[in-house]
Amino acid sequence: MSPIRVVVMGPPGVGKGTYAQAIAARFRVPHISTGELLRREISASTELGLKARSFVERGVLVPDEIVNEVLCKHLSSEECRSGYVLDGYPRTLAQAVFLETIAPVDVAVLLEAPLEVIVERISGRLYCPSCGRVYHARWRPPTVEGICDSCGAPLVRRRDDDPSVVATRFKQFYEASSEVVKFYMRLGKLLVFDASVDSSIGIPLLLKKIEERLSARPHTEAARPGQAA
Ligand SMILES: [Zn+2]
Repeated sequence: MSPIRVVVMGPPGVGKGTYAQAIAARFRVPHISTGELLRREISASTELGLKARSFVERGVLVPDEIVNEVLCKHLSSEECRSGYVLDGYPRTLAQAVFLETIAPVDVAVLLEAPLEVIVERISGRLYCPSCGRVYHARWRPPTVEGICDSCGAPLVRRRDDDPSVVATRFKQFYEASSEVVKFYMRLGKLLVFDASVDSSIGIPLLLKKIEERLSARPHTEAARPGQAA
């Protein structure tokens, strides 16, 4: 069977991680987050990790060539022979072009939801600083208001979850990703999906749409890794 390669894009809070995990489970491919890969390289103090660390410590984005190298190393591993679901990559047009040269995408999913829906989701989040459990004031409230069910610690809101911060990050996502979105549109690989519904409803719908796209793939399509640009 040819590999299944999906990228999942969307503004913060739209549910990228949840959808990406569901896609990975359905098609039995690894769910790869480049943020997570970088953290692993950094904590293992590999050569790449050391390079990446200097940028992370300064709070700036890790440059394309380092992220690309980390990704390339991972995609060529045995684990990724069946394909991948990428989350958090590509962020730039250069990364999207690079990915096409090493392991071309089948479907690029853009999850969308109106800002007010995302604000409602995120600003209701409550965290337990002690055990890390996550709640939602409306959809997953603790038994006793403001108190963690698991460990009894007082729950907190994260500063990043403030509506004004969420709105800024929403705008930034669309500014930063417009080139990448256009790129996948031109290639006929873009799948825009309305993720404003609850993910329990959205996930089966999205999986069906991805299956349709995959079954329409030309069977002769060459998925030859390592092809140079
Ligand atoms: Zn707790």
